Amino acid sequence: MPSTDNVMEKLVSLAKRRGFVFQSSEIYGGLGSVWDYGPLGVELKKNIKERWWRSMVHEREDIEGLDAAILMHPKVWEASGHVAGFTDPLVDCKHCKNRFRADDPRIKGTPGQPDAQCPACGSRGTLTAPRLFNLMFKTFLGPVEEAAAVVYLRPETAQGIYVNYLNVLQSSRQKIPFGIAQIGKAFRNEITPGNFIFRTREFEQMEMQFFVKPGTDQEWFEFWRNQRMQWLVGLGVRAEKLRWHQHTPDELAHYAKEAYDIQYEFPFGWQEFEGIHNRTDFDLSRHQEYSGKKLDYLDPATNERFVPYVVETSAGADRTALVVMLDAYSEEEVGGEKRVVLRFHPALAPLKAAVFPLVNKDGMPELARRLYDDLRRHYNVFYDDGGSIGRRYRRQDEAGTPFGITIDGQSTADGTVTVRDRDTLGQERVAADRLVSYLEGKLQG
Ligand code: ATP
Repeated sequence: MPSTDNVMEKLVSLAKRRGFVFQSSEIYGGLGSVWDYGPLGVELKKNIKERWWRSMVHEREDIEGLDAAILMHPKVWEASGHVAGFTDPLVDCKHCKNRFRADDPRIKGTPGQPDAQCPACGSRGTLTAPRLFNLMFKTFLGPVEEAAAVVYLRPETAQGIYVNYLNVLQSSRQKIPFGIAQIGKAFRNEITPGNFIFRTREFEQMEMQFFVKPGTDQEWFEFWRNQRMQWLVGLGVRAEKLRWHQHTPDELAHYAKEAYDIQYEFPFGWQEFEGIHNRTDFDLSRHQEYSGKKLDYLDPATNERFVPYVVETSAGADRTALVVMLDAYSEEEVGGEKRVVLRFHPALAPLKAAVFPLVNKDGMPELARRLYDDLRRHYNVFYDDGGSIGRRYRRQDEAGTPFGITIDGQSTADGTVTVRDRDTLGQERVAADRLVSYLEGKLQG
């Protein structure tokens, strides 16, 4: 394994060079902590989201999907507690104008007092006392910028689910317990974003809210903790790099009764990338209060009325993509040469296979093209006829492509091709007309 200090640097540079992730608006010098996904990155993230959707929605009878709008009625955020509570205490340096979280470990002394020292410019006594700063992005609906027109870019997707809970319940004819899942963008004006796509100001969440009868919440909380960990291990993420972190009372969000994070050992330390929260009836009760609409549930079996409790699973698609890339990144020596390989789970790999004519003559390119045209009706595959076969393999190793298919002299004679496995480097001869089903078997999982 490469040393941990520079693995982030190597990954960021590989991500750019190979078209996984680019800095936003790069030709203008970039926009702080905003990133764009390139041709390989968009496939990787889409595969993660699709796999999540499949396991959370399609494979479950008791979960429905939703795609709520980013802009919501401003009262939603009063009810949810985000207007009052979604804040971080910040200090400003009056000299260099930089802004820091009040708990920034680099600050020496007490902000607001003469002894405090600015971690950026080193001045003493220039840091203000902590002030609360709301993390929600504000904008205006319509042409007039007035208080009445204020709307927010949602800081989490969950609220779109709560306000639609009755719509989904009634239209889908689900009964409690049941869940609603959503994937979508969220925005937070983070003070200390960074570490590439780990903490950004615009990101995507994959959230599922499971509505249960009060009293059964603990059981469902354990159930969903279990399921989510299994799902991650099923993505091929190494189990020893994953751990649980239970929120202490100070860490618990304003809405949570109990919360666990799934953490990954990033090169910059153990950090959360998914949370499982028992949100109780906090959100639905608050929406009931603020909207004046009844959001309780009549249990048809017992005739009881109650406001459901909610168990939430909340993951960042971008942070999961970072976990998947870091976990897959590996450097090794093969035949005296260094190779960089992204060992993606085949289901997540942006490209499933690459097709290579060994040489550009003797009928090989024609056969390779035919095969490529056939395969790409089923999978995202790549055609490469440039450079030595070794170089072409290396390029695909770096992109994380699980299979390399080479068309050689024997192929034109007997219709077989070699399939090289990215991880074992083993090669097998397979009949070209059986390739689709051969790959199908290998790519499942
Ligand atoms: P953190 O403490 O790291 O800011 P959080 O506890 O505020 O995270 P949640 O509100 O629980 O995070 O959000 C759920 C998930 O959404 C996180 O586990 C993470 O994967 C993702 N997420 C939250 N904020 C960001 C961000 N700024 N950039 C990228 N992903 C984020």
